[in-house]
Amino acid sequence: MNVENAAVSYVFEPAAPPALPVTGTRQLFPVHRIYCVGRNYAAHAVEMGHDPDKEPPFFFQKNPDNIVLDGKFPYPAATSDVHHEIEMLVALGSGGTDIPVDQALDCVFGYGVGLDMTRRDLQGKAKEMGRPWEVGKAFESSAPCSPLVPASRIGHPSQGAVWLDVNGKRRQTGDLNQLIWKVPEMISYLSGLFRLAPGDIIMSGTPSGVAAVERGDVLSGHVEGVGEIEVRVV
Ligand code: MN
Repeated sequence: MNVENAAVSYVFEPAAPPALPVTGTRQLFPVHRIYCVGRNYAAHAVEMGHDPDKEPPFFFQKNPDNIVLDGKFPYPAATSDVHHEIEMLVALGSGGTDIPVDQALDCVFGYGVGLDMTRRDLQGKAKEMGRPWEVGKAFESSAPCSPLVPASRIGHPSQGAVWLDVNGKRRQTGDLNQLIWKVPEMISYLSGLFRLAPGDIIMSGTPSGVAAVERGDVLSGHVEGVGEIEVRVV
């Protein structure tokens, strides 16, 4: 049979691409990849047992379909120590490789607020054994996200309070001006490792105060000048 001439079809209907709403519009931002920056606030690096001065940036990924938009985080399987990490999302409208730092912000479509939910016990075991982090980081519903707000509306925030409350009590606090690797630097660095593309999301790292969540907890996160997120652990 001549395959080239045959009509092709999917074996099964592909899922719609994961997408984030854009605040104040009826548009959706289709998500390509999710990159996460590790230990990007000094105080968090210290609380995780590392020296913040000695490390170049490093990255891991979550899966686009790990995104949660409905405000519910189902407590995941195979863990008894799930941590919250409040982070600013950087959403790329264009990409490329070897992007110079001084051109990196041109790639940014907008910003949002996200939670890098982490099975800390599984991540810890993976670190100990020199194994990959996916089991700790890239599981179902591990990336609750807010809608995005375009940079054309808010600019490119380089300072502003970042905080997370759990059941009304402050757990995490920081400021965007404490990021070790700034947004243009993380984009530039990442683009030397991967071909960045429209639809890529970067979770920019979390301030100190990460801790375990329980079923029933309500997580309220805020990035000043960007937005907020509220998620219930179910
Ligand atoms: Mn994180």
